Amino acid sequence: MKMKRKSRQDSKLQRFKSALDQTADSVFITDKEGIIEYVNPAFEKMTGFSAKEALGHTPRIIKSGLQDLKYYKKLWSTILSGKTFRTIVVNKRKDGKLFYADHTITPIKNNKGKVTHFVGIWKDITAQVELDKRKDEFIAIASHELKNPLSTTRGYLELLHERLAQIKDEKSMYLLSQIEPQTDKIINLINDFFDANKIKAGKMVIRKINLDLDKLVEKVVEDFKQSSKVKIVIEGKVGKKILADPERIGQVLINLLSNAAKYSSKGAKIIVRLAKTDKQAVVSVQDFGIGIPKSEIKKVFERFYKIDPTERAGFGLGLYIASEIVKGHKGKIWVESKIGKGSTFFFTLPL
Ligand code: ADP
Repeated sequence: MKMKRKSRQDSKLQRFKSALDQTADSVFITDKEGIIEYVNPAFEKMTGFSAKEALGHTPRIIKSGLQDLKYYKKLWSTILSGKTFRTIVVNKRKDGKLFYADHTITPIKNNKGKVTHFVGIWKDITAQVELDKRKDEFIAIASHELKNPLSTTRGYLELLHERLAQIKDEKSMYLLSQIEPQTDKIINLINDFFDANKIKAGKMVIRKINLDLDKLVEKVVEDFKQSSKVKIVIEGKVGKKILADPERIGQVLINLLSNAAKYSSKGAKIIVRLAKTDKQAVVSVQDFGIGIPKSEIKKVFERFYKIDPTERAGFGLGLYIASEIVKGHKGKIWVESKIGKGSTFFFTLPL
């Protein structure tokens, strides 16, 4: 009986082993001190270290030195508490070349609940990271080159507008009124690219002043109503000045309002609420539009993320920029939503 169970276990192990041998992801198993006891063939291929060279060492052999002490502290505190740790890491192959990996490390416990081993999995994402880098470089150059000529064009359009008004050339004024908003759309888009790149490079500047948030919200909402003809009501007040960058916070509001309008049916109402708690000002923008599926709620703040990439205009940058601006003010941003019922975006700013 015992023999039978053992042989069943052996064949199960054999199946696990052949699965690990064939997977494209690197898999390694260490003991609880982090000493490598097993690596699969993909590990050998990805790192350039043979199993013989890796066994008995810690994964430090592929350390690139690009992760800081904080990273290792977080890693160990997570896995020693029995939880899975997942992140993107930069590792170094035996030949010195760097590779990027989506890294998961999971503790294995014995039947008494004690951690005895760790299983590490690396998925090589170097090609993706490099493509992203090239995309970022292209966007940085393109937005830089387009920004000045577009601003100049906008300036001349304004001059032309004034001149046509002076000579009362209504027909040309009408034609111009069709061009101006289109130019603004392109300028806004380029500005989004510009901002997203600045954020990525850690170079976004926030100039805080003593700000009357209630007044700012009122002004942004008024301007927005003029240009987009939506119904917006403002409820509540903060009633206290805060330290914040008016231009950036205005940008957050415009992004939330544009989305609320974009993802609702025409003419639907939008409610902007202002409130104050002990330590913070709370602003929310509620729409009664299409809503956001639960699984997407966190992802919508990611760079270039769109729930449906084929639908409607936009590059998926608005919420990313908004969330980085709010974080830059040490505030929080989140959304509550129900499919078909609408969404409410909230953000807080410390008082
Ligand atoms: P985009 O330019 O695509 O609107 P955002 O970063 O502003 O980029 O938003 C990211 C994605 O989140 C959008 O593509 C959309 O799918 C979803 N989203 C944002 N706001 C709303 C909203 N108010 N209602 C429904 N979906 C929204």
